[in-house]
Amino acid sequence: MTATGADPRCIIHIDADAFFASVEQQDNPVLKGKPVIVGGHPQGRGVVATCSYEARAYGVRSAMPVAQAYRLCPHGIFIRPRMDRYKQVSDAMFDIFDRYSPIVEKLSIDEAFIDATGEHGVEVAASIRRDVKQELGITVSAGVSYCKFLAKLASDSCKPDGLRYIPREEAQAFLDPLPVSSLPGIGPKTQAKLDTLGIRTIGALRQMPETWFDKFFGKSAKRFREMAQGIDPEPVTPWREPKSISEENTFDADIHDIDELQGHLALLAQNVAFRLRKARLRCRTVGIKIRFYNFSTITREHTLPEPVSSDAEIFQVAKALLETAAPEKPVRLLGVAAKGLVPESSRQVPLFDPADSPWDDISRSMDELRNKYGKPVVLLGSCLNLLRGKNET
Ligand SMILES: [Mg+2]
Repeated sequence: MTATGADPRCIIHIDADAFFASVEQQDNPVLKGKPVIVGGHPQGRGVVATCSYEARAYGVRSAMPVAQAYRLCPHGIFIRPRMDRYKQVSDAMFDIFDRYSPIVEKLSIDEAFIDATGEHGVEVAASIRRDVKQELGITVSAGVSYCKFLAKLASDSCKPDGLRYIPREEAQAFLDPLPVSSLPGIGPKTQAKLDTLGIRTIGALRQMPETWFDKFFGKSAKRFREMAQGIDPEPVTPWREPKSISEENTFDADIHDIDELQGHLALLAQNVAFRLRKARLRCRTVGIKIRFYNFSTITREHTLPEPVSSDAEIFQVAKALLETAAPEKPVRLLGVAAKGLVPESSRQVPLFDPADSPWDDISRSMDELRNKYGKPVVLLGSCLNLLRGKNET
């Protein structure tokens, strides 16, 4: 497929197959061909992050509680995530993508759009798949098309270890029978609403009049109407990771009391989380910094299996780090940092249930208030204790 005047873009979507589980199988060949289930959250939330295709055969799925996975597949091999290792393999995989195009958009640790306009897209995709397999020992699936969302649908439809090309002339026939939820942005709630109207496929959606789209989708009407027709002008946007977002506070007087420190930590975590969401990012790693009265400084950090951006989730990790660090000397400065930043859209597995994390909704409401009043108006419980104790307003 080369670019032509009528069909100017060539976009490849690459997505590693059962990424965490495949890395585990590659690192420990004894696991190959076995049901490998990577999950069990350090905070005890216990959901499956990724499972091998052998485990999927038993009905195990990402985001399923680990306990349920165990019932379905008791002889499965349950492994705690090793995020540092997955990050290493991911970096090596993105180095391979960079060889083929300067325009690579990172969607998550194992997923990217690559703009290969002017190239033979199918050949480039096949070549990337070969390199990843040879150099890293894992398989990726690739979708090739003339726009982003179709390239992604193409790779989704040929997993695992597949390559699929959807040319423009086949796009409508490919899209029409798919469920409306295949369109990015149509979640379970919207799907349910469309279902009550009898609109279940993209083909049915496409038949609806323009005025109906305006009424139903409001500001997003054009976007959804176009996607239903296989039109997606979104460019592949190369994205470079900012290193971190952090906040710190030097106290007027050194603090010894752990509850008081926790209160400050909550406020710092809220500020970091707010800035993350404003930048449309999530973080995979949360760190804290503690400087003591004598200027000695320690840092602690923890990496999560899935990126987060809510006040509550970031505070929870920071608080656990503070408790583990158990500072015994008076503290002069406290800091919270968000690292391992990824775009907002890259949360693959909701930590709580198959719908969005409830914290995301809560955070969004809090951001609206904060944007309106210019300061946090809703505070985490620990901050409230601090303010009460300090008699501040
Ligand atoms: Mg994947």
